[in-house]
Amino acid sequence: MSVFVEKFADIKILRYELPGFEKLSLQQKQYIYYLSQAALCGRDILFDQNNRWNLKIRQLLETVYKSFTGNRDSDEFKALHLYLKQVWFGNGIHHHYSTEKFKPTLSREAFQQLLAQADLSELSFQDELPHVLDVIFNPELDAKGISLDSNSDLLKASAMNYYQGVEQQEAEAFYEAKRKSVPEHAPSFGLNSTLVKDGGELKEDVWHCGGKYGKAIQQIVGWLKKAAPFAENDLQKEVIAKLVAYYESGDLKQFDDYSIAWTNENEGLVDFVNGFIEIYGDPLGIKASWESIVNYKDLEGTKRAIVLSENAGWFEANSPVDPKFKKAEVKGVSAKVIHVAMLGGDCYPATPIGINLPNSEWIREEFGSKSVTIDNITQAYFQDSLGNGMLEEFAASEAEIQRAREFGQLAGNLHTDLHECLGHGSGRMQPGVKPEDLKNYYSTLEETRADLFALYYIADEKLLQLGLVPSAESGKAEYDAYLRNGLITQLTRIELGKDLEESHMRNRQLITRWAFEHGKADGVVELIKKDGKTVVQINDYARLRELFGQLLNEVQRIKSEGDYEAAKALVEAYAVKIDPQLHGEVLERFKKLNIAPYAGFLNPELKLVTGSNGQVADVAVEYQSDYSAQMLHYSEKYGFLVK
Ligand code: ZN
Repeated sequence: MSVFVEKFADIKILRYELPGFEKLSLQQKQYIYYLSQAALCGRDILFDQNNRWNLKIRQLLETVYKSFTGNRDSDEFKALHLYLKQVWFGNGIHHHYSTEKFKPTLSREAFQQLLAQADLSELSFQDELPHVLDVIFNPELDAKGISLDSNSDLLKASAMNYYQGVEQQEAEAFYEAKRKSVPEHAPSFGLNSTLVKDGGELKEDVWHCGGKYGKAIQQIVGWLKKAAPFAENDLQKEVIAKLVAYYESGDLKQFDDYSIAWTNENEGLVDFVNGFIEIYGDPLGIKASWESIVNYKDLEGTKRAIVLSENAGWFEANSPVDPKFKKAEVKGVSAKVIHVAMLGGDCYPATPIGINLPNSEWIREEFGSKSVTIDNITQAYFQDSLGNGMLEEFAASEAEIQRAREFGQLAGNLHTDLHECLGHGSGRMQPGVKPEDLKNYYSTLEETRADLFALYYIADEKLLQLGLVPSAESGKAEYDAYLRNGLITQLTRIELGKDLEESHMRNRQLITRWAFEHGKADGVVELIKKDGKTVVQINDYARLRELFGQLLNEVQRIKSEGDYEAAKALVEAYAVKIDPQLHGEVLERFKKLNIAPYAGFLNPELKLVTGSNGQVADVAVEYQSDYSAQMLHYSEKYGFLVK
C-alpha cells in the first residue's frame, strides 16, 4: 500500500496500515469496530470547541463544494476546495499547529460569485451569512486560535470557544476557588464544560448526554455500549461502564474513576482513549478538547521486546562496559508498542506518535500511567520518507539507498527496542552517585548511553542467532541512517545560526561527531562530496562498531561516577555547535525538496462482514485513498451538531 495520499498548502496526507489486524480474534475485531464508531462520533464537538463559527463555515463550504453547478476547474473553485481542505485538516478555520487563521486564496467577491451558483436553500443560518463571510475573509476577526501573548487577556485574544463573555481573571479566580475547596484528590475542575457569563454570573455549561454537545455524546455512548459485550476482560467492561456513567452525568469524579480503571487495565490486546483529554486548545490549560484513539498491541513488536527482555542478562554481561559499572542482574523492560486502528477528534488527521496518560497528577502518582509508542504511524512516516527524495539527496551511494529500503524499517524498530528495553536499564551507579550529579547534561548523556547500547548491539551476531534480523545488512542500514541523520539531516530542523538544544538531537550529534573525529585517522567515516553535495560515507563498519563500544564504556563511566566535568566537556565539544557552512548547504538542499512540514492521516474504513447465517463473520479493513471523500463522508455520517 502506498502511504502518500496527497499534498496541499503546507500539509501532506498519509495513510497508515493495520498490521496483524487479520490475526486478531473475531471478538477483538468487533470490539475495535464498535470502539471505532464511537471514535468518529465526536468530530463536531472539536470543531465547535475550536471556534464557534467552525461548524457553520464547514457546512457552508461543503454545501458549495457539493452543489456548485459552475466550472469546477476554475481557479476560484479550486481555491475554495483548497480552503475547505485546510478547514477539514485544522478541524476549523485555524492552522492546527500555528493556530493562525487560514487565508483563503480567493477574494470575498469571487467567493460570493461561487455562492450564487450553489444551492444554499438547506442552510439554516441564512441571516448570519454576512457575518460568517466576515469571519472567513476579515483577517482581524478571530485571527488566532490560541494566543499565549501575556500582555493581553488570553481569552479575548484567542478565538477558541471554551469561554463565553468571560474575562481571563474571572475564569482563573473561578477555578482557583474550586481547586482550593478540595485539598486532596481534586478532580480536574473545568475540564468538560464551557464557562459562560450569564447575567453577571459565571456558570458552567457541562458537556454530557443531557447537556451541551449531548447529541454527539449520546451517539458516542450508544457505540460504547455496543462495544462492551465484546470486551476482552471484565476490567475492560468496567472501563466502558465508568466512561459511560461519566458521559451521562458529566461528573468529573466519575471521570477520575474511569481514568483509574483505564490505567489499571493492561491485559487486553485492544485499548482506547475516548473523551475530553488534552488541554492544549485552551490558553488557560483548563478545558479539554475531545479526542479518540482505538488501538491494539503490536504482536510482532511485542514478541521482539520479549526476546530481548529474556536475554537482557546476556546483553549486559557482554557489553563493552567496565565490569564494575555493570549490573549483576538485569531485567529488561517490555516496551509497549501499539498500532492505531482509528483516529478521531483531536487525534485526526494530525496525530500523536505516542500516548502518555492519564494527565491527572494525583492519579499518576498513585496508580501510574500508560506510555506507549504507536508503531504503524511511525512506520507510515518512515515509508513516506523513502519516497520524498530525502534518501536520494542525502545518501552516499546506491547501495546505501537499497539497504535503507530493504532493512531500514526493521533496523529502526530494533534500535528503538534495544534503546528502550535494554539501553536505559543497563549499567550500575557507584554508591552515592545520583543522576542529578550530571545536572543539565544528564538527559543528553542518558540518551547517548541508551543509543550507544543500541548501536553497539544492532550489529551483533547475537541478533541473528535470536532470529531478530534476517542478515547483518540491517546493522549496516542502521549505521548508515544514524550517521546520516546525526551529522546531516537532523540539521534541517534547526534555523541557521542556532545551536542544538534538544537532548535527543544533541545526543545524536555527540555520537556521530565523536565517532567521525576518532575514526578520522583510519578513515572509518568520511564526509565526502557527491556531485558537489556533502554526504557521509562509512568505510569500515566493524571499526565504527568498536568506536561506539569505546564511547559507550566512557559514557557509562561518566554516569556511574557522576563525572560532571567529563559530561560537560563531551557535550560541549561534540553536541552543541553546528558547522555553519555545512548547515547552510543542508538547509538549501532540503528547501529544494519541497517537503510538506506537517502531516496527517486518512483512516481506514472498518466494515462488518456478515456470513451466510446472518451473523457477523469478520471485520474488513478498507484502506481509503480520497481525503476529500473521507471528510465529506464523516460530515454526513457523523455531523451530529450541524443543524
Ligand atoms: Zn531514551
